[in-house]
Amino acid sequence: MNQLSRRVFLAGAAATTAVTLGQFNRKNRVSAQTQEINLYSSRHYNTDNALYENFTTATGIKVNLIEGNADELIERIKSEGQNSPADILMTVDVTRLWRADQEGIFTPVSSAILTEKIPANLRHPEGHWFAFSKRARVIMYHKDRVNPAELSTYEDLADPKWKGKIAIRSSDNSYNQALVASIIAANGEEKTQEWTQGLVANFARPPEGNDTAQIEAVAAGIADLAIANTYYLANLGQSEEPQKQEIFKTIGIFFPNQQDRGAHVNISGGGLLKTAPNPEGGVKFLEYLVSEEAQKFFAEGNNEYPVVEGVPIAPIIAGFGEFKSDSTAIAELGPLVPPAVQVMDRAGWK
Ligand code: FE
Repeated sequence: MNQLSRRVFLAGAAATTAVTLGQFNRKNRVSAQTQEINLYSSRHYNTDNALYENFTTATGIKVNLIEGNADELIERIKSEGQNSPADILMTVDVTRLWRADQEGIFTPVSSAILTEKIPANLRHPEGHWFAFSKRARVIMYHKDRVNPAELSTYEDLADPKWKGKIAIRSSDNSYNQALVASIIAANGEEKTQEWTQGLVANFARPPEGNDTAQIEAVAAGIADLAIANTYYLANLGQSEEPQKQEIFKTIGIFFPNQQDRGAHVNISGGGLLKTAPNPEGGVKFLEYLVSEEAQKFFAEGNNEYPVVEGVPIAPIIAGFGEFKSDSTAIAELGPLVPPAVQVMDRAGWK
């Protein structure tokens, strides 16, 4: 063997070895993957851990949980790129799921179980993400100062009769952005602009604090009405602190727009990532989340509503009564969020 052919031979051998080692590694990676999934989640409820343990018991797949806020997790998945260990991203709010999807990090999942169990309006049309629980954003009122017969729709909240009486958090809050997007979906941008101006004119104070702070403002007499997600009131009612239970007792809940489109609902959900090392395990996990057992845990963790029909709801939210929810496809709200933000800005909603 002359120098040249020897060199060629060695190079060829090295290349062969590299490929074989690569295949070996990939094989090992796959067999390890079938045993675990990496879940990036911005949900952090105690019941979620029991949920993951039950999934492992049922399937043998271990769940590694990486927690963070939604924007951080989305950034992390993007910067990890092809090497991201993440299989699933779970987060709350349609605006964040939409943003994650705009970044192109999800991959379509086609699963008969998911499409059968989750109503079409609560999942991305191509399976990029799915809702696993829902929350209603409703009107809450002081039982001594407001007669619920005076309440009707979100639209009515712009009526001057509510001047100085409404508490709601700031416009940079994603729940409010999704709510305004839902009003645009129902009434168009122009009417929503007028509505938003009327609503802002009725604010009891410049927006401050979270949803709980709005409910507290009603209880304290600062406002008569609050717009908040149902679970904030339920969580007050379940508090060990007598003060919070007192607040719970003074507040009534009103589901708006029951004569037309229904109350606005937002979601908590997730999807399979394009770079998932274990897509089969990831899909199994998503499918597990619509089982009755998982739906109970998932929804009760934060006093939310299950997405699967017939799953029992927590007694405290059952006490709020049944209601009709807006059946507009949640996925349609995503693209309406940027115009919603502009509408709110123009109306001077802080
Ligand atoms: Fe919240």
